[in-house]
Amino acid sequence: MADYSEDYRDYELDEYADPSPFNISTELVTGCSVCNKKDDLSRCAACKVVLYCSGEHQAAHRKEHKSICNKIKKAQQVCDKEEAELRASQGGPLSWANPFETAPGHFWGIVETRPYMRARFAVVDYQMKINTRAAVQAALDNIMDMLRLCRGDNMGLRDIAPGLLLSLGRDQACYDFVKWWEWRYNQSDYDSGDMDAPYLDIKDADVFEAPDLFTDTKYPNLSPLLDITLLKIRLLIDLKALQRVKLEAGSHVPQEILDTINTHAVSSVVAGNREILERKDLAPRISGLEKQIRKLYDTVQKANKYIWLAMVRPGNHLTARPAYTSAGTIREMQVKLQYVYNAWAETPGAIGVIEELQKRSGTARAT
Ligand SMILES: [Zn+2]
Ligand SMILES: [Zn+2]
Repeated sequence: MADYSEDYRDYELDEYADPSPFNISTELVTGCSVCNKKDDLSRCAACKVVLYCSGEHQAAHRKEHKSICNKIKKAQQVCDKEEAELRASQGGPLSWANPFETAPGHFWGIVETRPYMRARFAVVDYQMKINTRAAVQAALDNIMDMLRLCRGDNMGLRDIAPGLLLSLGRDQACYDFVKWWEWRYNQSDYDSGDMDAPYLDIKDADVFEAPDLFTDTKYPNLSPLLDITLLKIRLLIDLKALQRVKLEAGSHVPQEILDTINTHAVSSVVAGNREILERKDLAPRISGLEKQIRKLYDTVQKANKYIWLAMVRPGNHLTARPAYTSAGTIREMQVKLQYVYNAWAETPGAIGVIEELQKRSGTARAT
């Protein structure tokens, strides 16, 4: 049995808080939200993140879409108003002249920017409730721009962006991002107020490399660990599929089969990677990845003992709204699970890998 007792009271209290809806996504909608047609689409003018092929389909979807659409529209209006006020600010003894021009990167140090940042965060929070590619992209664009304005990242946006990148299939960009922040996190003398300091300057890092940066540390960092674990699992799923085909086809795999695998690859790192697709024996890479994933699994389990149980059976952890979190608690699990869950659910077989690891480590039957 997993030991929930120490946090259980907190968890019960959270259940009385207003649950926040969560839409599980198994595949992002890229076309019309009613029929999924892909061309001649127009955007919902209010929220701008849902697409339709016709006025008819927009009207048919209105009842279901209305509530979240209005929330996004209103949150965006509040955000726009806060932005306009900041931009108009002339500065004075107690305030800062237009910080968008005078202090990008330093927003956390300027108290007047906080209502704006919170308002923009509310927009992101609602955008993340819509499972369209346009909504995920819009949430990511907001987060990346907020990080540009506030490099100190006091809001923890760095924990949200990677799940969105994975949902969008941008695995390499996700790895580069997560690796930079983990490096930054371990760099106690990094000055986030120095705009000349390197920022997100890791490009095309090797996704197959050992995850020591994330695992061999005194205080393992839950969100990046979850991102890296999923990323590695995606690689594993692709390499195993590729290996199966190679074993069946013998020494020479016909080009059209390679092309089919290429289009079905779950990881964008494998898709299009000739070096991997054409490699003769993938077994060493596969066993290397399996070892890395086991180590990541154990490190995650150490960082938060509730997270894998909840990944397999999320239940109402996806709709909980914990007020604050601290490392290792159920509340932390809930927040971090919500950030990354859809990227996992959108990857066929990924949660199954975790179930297998649970069986092996004997935590599967804990409830
Ligand atoms: Zn349609
Ligand atoms: Zn809308």
